[in-house]
Amino acid sequence: MKRIWITLVAVIAMISGVYFFLNSRDNHSADLTAGDKLQVVTTNSILEDMVRNVGGDRIELYSIVKRGTDPHEYEPQPSDVSAATEANVIFHNGLNLETGGNGWFNKLVETSHKKFNEDVFSASSEVTPEHLTTNVNEEDPHAWLDLANGVKYVQVITKVLKEKDKKNANYYQANADKYIAKLEKLHHQAQSKYLEIPEKQRLLVTSEGAFKYFGKAYHVTPAYIWEINTESQGTPEQMQRVLGKIRKSDVKNLFVESSVSPKSMEKVSKESGLEIYSKLFTDSLAKEGSDGDTYYSMMKWNIDHIYDGLK
Ligand SMILES: [Zn+2]
Repeated sequence: MKRIWITLVAVIAMISGVYFFLNSRDNHSADLTAGDKLQVVTTNSILEDMVRNVGGDRIELYSIVKRGTDPHEYEPQPSDVSAATEANVIFHNGLNLETGGNGWFNKLVETSHKKFNEDVFSASSEVTPEHLTTNVNEEDPHAWLDLANGVKYVQVITKVLKEKDKKNANYYQANADKYIAKLEKLHHQAQSKYLEIPEKQRLLVTSEGAFKYFGKAYHVTPAYIWEINTESQGTPEQMQRVLGKIRKSDVKNLFVESSVSPKSMEKVSKESGLEIYSKLFTDSLAKEGSDGDTYYSMMKWNIDHIYDGLK
């Protein structure tokens, strides 16, 4: 009888050992043990700032594409691969943003053994997409330049953080509520801001056509040299097209984005006789400590400088 008991206990111990082994292999880095901070990775600085605003100091945060550089095209570094592998959650923009360089982000997801909608989430999943005019099947990624979409990003981020780290759910929600109220206030101010400027003057000339969502939300007409950073930039045909639009308008100034080379816009300036009024932030935040170093501050900068430049 005693021997049977010992055998039974040994068998149970063996089965549960195998069970726990398989279980822990399955969950690899995805499980949060008490006291551990959620490991979050974002593809760019704008998402990084949104996630920081919600997650505060209760998360570990790593952002892949550094400030001032273009997130369309990127070559992941070894440190990016290890951060993505360790991560509990990865946020990307989606909408065709991280598709340059032969789809650098999809490759990174594969190398780090992550899965879309399990540990990889698109912050833009609730946005109604605009499409490229040069290729109507492709979505335009720059949805965050409409603050109402930025709010949708923050809501998606908050939902995911709450699900992945339940013990801090209330904290994340409280941060999100405060942050969203601030973004919505700026959005409402911007909605009527440009209407006092004559319509023929309301042409927003930038290098990349990043202002489709912005233009629709805030009543300005975007004009650009090339439509998206992943295509060839500043060809003679593109230059002629934008110069034609400028000639037909009463626009007073040009703009250039902080994360592209100013060369082509300098040519447009020379040809059109208009000045480049200021830089704008589209695909990247400024270095920490300067104007435009948060999503809120980059949008405020854009809204104010575009207004002054068009006026
Ligand atoms: Zn872009």
